[in-house]
Order: sequence, then structure tokens, then C-alpha cells
Amino acid sequence: MSDLLANLNTEQLQAVTLPPQHALILAGAGSGKTRVLTTRIAWLVQSGQADPAGILAVTFTNKAAKEMLARLSTMLPVSPRGMWIGTFHGLANRLLRAHHRDAGLPQLFQILDSADQLAAIKRLLKTLNVDDEKFPPRELQHFINGQKEAGNRPHAVEAWDDYTRQRVQLYQEYEAQCQRESVVDFAELLLRSYELLERNEPLRCHYQRRFRHILVDEFQDTNRLQYRWLKLFADEGREGGGALFCVGDDDQSIYRFRGAEVGNMRDFEREFRVANVIRLEQNYRSHSNILDAANAIIRHNSNRLGKNLWTDQGAGEPIRIFEAYSDGDEARWIVDEIQQLVRDGALRSEIALLYRSNAQSRVLEHQLFSAGIAYRVYGGLRFFERQEIKHALAYLRLIANADDDTAFARVVNFPTRGIGARSLEVLQDAARTYNTSLYATVPHLTGKPGTSLAQFVRLVEDLRRDTAGLPLPELVDHVLDASGLRAHYKAEKEGRERLENLDELINAAANFLAEAQAQRAPDEALPTHALLADFLAHASLEAGEHQADQGADAVQLMTVHSAKGLEFNAVFLSGLEEGLFPHENSTLESDGLEEERRLMYVAVTRARERLYLSFAQSRMLHGQTRYNLRSRFLEEVPAGLTKWLTPPKPRSAAGGEFGAMRGGAGGGYLKPLFAAQTPRAPRPSFAQLPNGLRIGQAVSHAKFGQGVIVAAEGSGNDAKVQINFGPAGVKWLLLSVAKLEAA
Ligand code: ATP
Ligand code: MG
Repeated sequence: MSDLLANLNTEQLQAVTLPPQHALILAGAGSGKTRVLTTRIAWLVQSGQADPAGILAVTFTNKAAKEMLARLSTMLPVSPRGMWIGTFHGLANRLLRAHHRDAGLPQLFQILDSADQLAAIKRLLKTLNVDDEKFPPRELQHFINGQKEAGNRPHAVEAWDDYTRQRVQLYQEYEAQCQRESVVDFAELLLRSYELLERNEPLRCHYQRRFRHILVDEFQDTNRLQYRWLKLFADEGREGGGALFCVGDDDQSIYRFRGAEVGNMRDFEREFRVANVIRLEQNYRSHSNILDAANAIIRHNSNRLGKNLWTDQGAGEPIRIFEAYSDGDEARWIVDEIQQLVRDGALRSEIALLYRSNAQSRVLEHQLFSAGIAYRVYGGLRFFERQEIKHALAYLRLIANADDDTAFARVVNFPTRGIGARSLEVLQDAARTYNTSLYATVPHLTGKPGTSLAQFVRLVEDLRRDTAGLPLPELVDHVLDASGLRAHYKAEKEGRERLENLDELINAAANFLAEAQAQRAPDEALPTHALLADFLAHASLEAGEHQADQGADAVQLMTVHSAKGLEFNAVFLSGLEEGLFPHENSTLESDGLEEERRLMYVAVTRARERLYLSFAQSRMLHGQTRYNLRSRFLEEVPAGLTKWLTPPKPRSAAGGEFGAMRGGAGGGYLKPLFAAQTPRAPRPSFAQLPNGLRIGQAVSHAKFGQGVIVAAEGSGNDAKVQINFGPAGVKWLLLSVAKLEAA
């Protein structure tokens, strides 16, 4: 036991060993929050205060859940298996599977990931003949998920205008469609499991009695519904309910766009009368140059609870800053540096490349690949989201649940079997009339459409019959052949990689089976099709976290969002340009910029020893070359902490016309044109804008319409402002020429 508690500082020790009461650990990055949470679980079990089955722990990613389980098994003499450790979605899925009947779902319900959900919404609009320009599917998806996250079923949505009323009606139709098809989207997992427990008192009491300890990591990023979900387990904070132990950092709240609310922290303190609020202030992760930079950046935010982070690790190396000509140039430099680091003995897996948007990974990947450096991408083009994998999964889904219309529509004519759009339309109309799934509607059809569709139904039935009782990997293998998918990709010129991916799916099934077997008693049967449903749920929930070989020593690529909670010896943060990071959308929304800054804080605090920040004068993104100013966040790093690898220049429009010339034809690697040292310009003072204009002000322009001033530069006749005109884009305009009016 003392082993467990050794190596904790006083506050950490206090947090780990708190009596079983509600507690909030509020602390900055790298101060040991996750370590405290894991150690507390081990301590509770080891000291006999809790049974492993009495622990419910919520982590932010599946990866984090796995790491926590692995840690616990080394810390404890008993198996941590009885504990429920997972993400909100993973835990909700577990609940719904266990009590599917009470939740009004078939046992083998399928999970829609967000791409599936979008496809389902598009299909719905089509069936209902709704104009998708008036109701853009993505917006509708956002609306529906938002309502679900607020806990609102259609009847509970307050609609004051016609447009909202129509959207609510579509929400209702969407729900009916999902129910008909036995599919559940991500937001539904949570809402459905919440309602299940809320309405079913015996079940609720059962879980409340069982989970005496509920522990939540990254609490700052829970949304309203997740918070209510936790409250339900903890019996709303009543005497006798389980103890809720939450750890979080308001400065790392980066999911507000998805409905997360820092306000949950304050509510938690109040509603649960939390007597134990503990702050951790020592950072164990980073050298002080890195930590000081992070502290300096986040100090520019006003909306903070405020905290003081320090480290005794010494200054360490300066933060390296690099200015590239183009994104390709930047990626080449990063790869050169990585090769140097590896030559010096660094592990690849201890090097992370972080970026603001997924689209940035492609050029990095390209350079890494050309240099033969093993790498792994988290997120982005995920294994389970690749076209061929989704096709294969769709067949598997139809075996598990023939009423899954999304899966049906995806593969009914893939590989092509002569079923045209017209036949499908007829089928969809009929399905609406009969109020049945597409699959169940086929027998009602006559004529040519009826015949070809009936053949497809027979194929699915054969698949189901022939795979019953097969071990999962063989089942998958059989489906790849019998569906015609393998033959299809074999015939395709570029199909090799896809075939390899399909084989990888068999491996994934084999791994899944091995894990499932390890978790069950030797005599416990594993019915194939139930196992298949579990496998499909796993595929939806873990998309993106199984990209390359597990355990291989590979450079780690990911967005800043998915780097939360992780740490690496060396971190490269690229693309530090205005419009990219901070993201151009952020400046339009209230609090958007502060959220971007928190994201920057998360990025910087991932590094233990080395931090590289870079930006490019020109960048190809979404098919366009863009010339951006370097990010304002770079200016917020105190100069004394940094070392410029390229000569620092004043912060003028990055590249400008020169950038255009150099970034243009050839795109070759060019030596710096301006090698001379130029003193760094002070931050442009925004207060000096003429005509009473200010940053954040709404203005209108005769040609570009309404916009908001996001940045300013220069003075007198050279004064320029950068304006985000929404759909018309972000533009730099010369104030002396542009006719702007305050809007
Ligand atoms: P984040 O906010 O990024 O999620 P965190 O607060 O969860 O960070 P941890 O990941 O738990 O921090 O800890 C950061 C690092 O510091 C880890 O490597 C951890 O093992 C180490 N650490 C934490 N506490 C101590 C300690 N008392 N002694 C030595 N190392 C520690
Ligand atoms: Mg953590």
C-alpha cells in the first residue's frame, strides 16, 4: 500500500486518500490529475474500501481507458476486470446492451457513427422529398445532436418559429427512422441510457447501490447530458448515493463547440455541496521554458478560474521556432529534425506532430512516408471509416440486423448488381407506405425492381445462414468473399491497398475475439451473431484509435484535440498561422478565440522536453493557396523562452507578394531571401486603429457584405485590417482605400 502512495506530493496524497465524499480536483496540465485518479482507484480497492465491481470510471478516449486498465493491473494484485472503465459512449453502450429490452431496443442494435448519421439524414430528407438546400443535412444533424445533448426529445423542444417547428418535425421523423432500423447514433446512446435509468427505478437503484465510486477524468469537457448522467448514478448527490470524484482543468476545456460546459464544474460544486476542492500546482511533465510559455499564453484569456503552475525541473531547452516558405517546406524541415532526433537516440513514439485540423496531416504524412519513417495517425482517415471497410461492415451489419437501412442502402448495389436508383426510390416509397425497413419491404415489390432486390435479400439470408456458428474472423472472411467485395477490389486497378485493409479487418476481428474470450469464463458460450454485434459496436466506438500496428515505434500524428491528456518528449506544433490556428471560424463566435487559446495551451503542455513551433508563408489547404499572418499565439510566447531557427521577421502578412512568387511555380526548396536579422516588431497595437474601428467590430463592405474585424496592421496610409466576411472569406483590406461602414 505504501508503494502506491509513495511518489505523491502532499496535495496529491490528500486527493488520493480522501474519504468517500464528492470531490473536485481542479488543476493545470501535467499536475498529475490522471495519475491521482488512477491511484485513487487502486488505493480504494487495495485498502478494502471498495470492491472492483463498485468502481465506475469515465475517461475521455478509449485509448485512455485501456491505459488506465493496464496501469491498474500492474498496481493491484486483483484483476480490475469487474470495474467499469470507459468513455461515456462506451459505458452507455454497455448499459443499453445489458438492458436492451427495457430500453426499447433489439439486442443487436447497431451504432451509427457521425458519417452514418449524416447519410441516414440525407436519406430521410430524400424519402420525405424535403429540399436539402432549405434544410442542409449537416445543420440538421447538428440541430438533432444538440437537442439530444440538451436532453430534449422532439416534443420538448421549444419552437417559436416555423423553421424550427419544421426542424423538430424532421427530428421526429429521424427518430422514427432510427427506431425502425434499430440503429442508435452517438448522442442517442447517452440520451437513451439516461432515460433508461431515469424511468426505471429498480434498475437505477441497482446501479446506484453498485457503483459506490464514480470517477471522472477531463471533467471540464462534459456536456449537460453527460453531467446529468453522472448525477443519476450518484443519486443526485443525496445521502447514500455514490461518491463523485471529478478531476479537470478549466483551461483545457476545448469541446464547447460540441456542447461541453465548464459551468458543470461550478454546478457540481454547488449541487453536490462539494467540501473537498483540491488544487494541484506542481507540474511534473515539462521543463520550465515550456511551462512558462503555456502560462504566458493562457494568461491572455479573461474567463478563467485561475491557477498557478510551477515546476522544479529547470529551464530546459528553448522553444524552437521555424518559419517555412510553404507547407511542404515546413514538413520537410520537421522530417529532417525527426531524423536528427532519432539519430540522437529518441524513440519515434515519443515524438508527436500536432496540428489544428486533420487536413494538415496529409503533407506531413507524405514527407514521413518518403523518408521511410514509421508513423501513426490518430483520427483523420480512420481505419473503420475507409470506404472498403465501411462496405464490409455494412454486410456484417445486415447479418446482425437486416433492418439497418443505412447499411442496406450502402451495399444493395455494391458491388454493382444492376439495382438502379429508380428501383431504390420505388423501394423507399414503399417502405414509407408500409412503415417497414427497406429489407422487410422487398417482398412487397413486384416487377423488375422486385426481382433484383429479392436476389439481394437472398444473398443476405445466405450470408446469415452460412456464417451462423463460425468464429468471428472466419465469418468476416466468408462475407468478404461471398459478398463479392474481394473480387470487386481485385479487379480494381488501385485496389491493392483496399484488399490489404480488408484483410486487416479479419485481423481486427481475430483480436476482438481473443479479447472477448479472455474476458469470459471458459464454459461461457459466445454466440456468433451476438459477438458480431459487439464487434460492430467496437468498430463504431473505436474508429480512429486502431490505425497502425499497436506497439510499433512510430511517430505520432494527431490533432490537438485528440492529444488531450497525452504527453511526449518532443512535440512539433505546425501551421501556426492566423486563420488556421486560431481557426478562422473562431473569431466570429463569442468566446471562440478564448477556446482556441485553450487549445493552444493544451498543445504546448503536451511536451516534456522539446517543443517546436512552426508556420509557413504559404499553404495549400482545401485546394487553395493561402498566405496568412503568423499566429498571434506565437507573439504571446515571451521572447526570452524561444530560439528562432530562421531569422525572426516583423509580423507582416506572411509572405505577401513575395510569398506568392516563391510559393508559386515549381514549389521547390528555396533558400531564405531575407537572411538579414530584423528586429522583431512589437505586437501591433490595436488601440491605434483609425476611424474609431476596433477588433471584433462588425462592419459592412459594399462588395463582400457583413464581416467582423479580426486583426489589424500598420498605421497611417498603410493601415490594414483583416476581416472575416463569413461566406465571402477572410480578407485583408487597406483602410485608406476600402470603404467600410460600421454595421
Ligand atoms: P493533463 O492535464 O495533461 O491531463 P494531468 O494533470 O492528468 O495532465 P498526469 O498525466 O497525471 O497529469 O501527470 C503528468 C506527468 O507527471 C505524468 O508523467 C505523471 O506520471 C507525472 N507525475 C505526476 N505526479 C507525479 C509525482 N508526484 N512524481 C513524479 N511524477 C509525477
Ligand atoms: Mg490527465
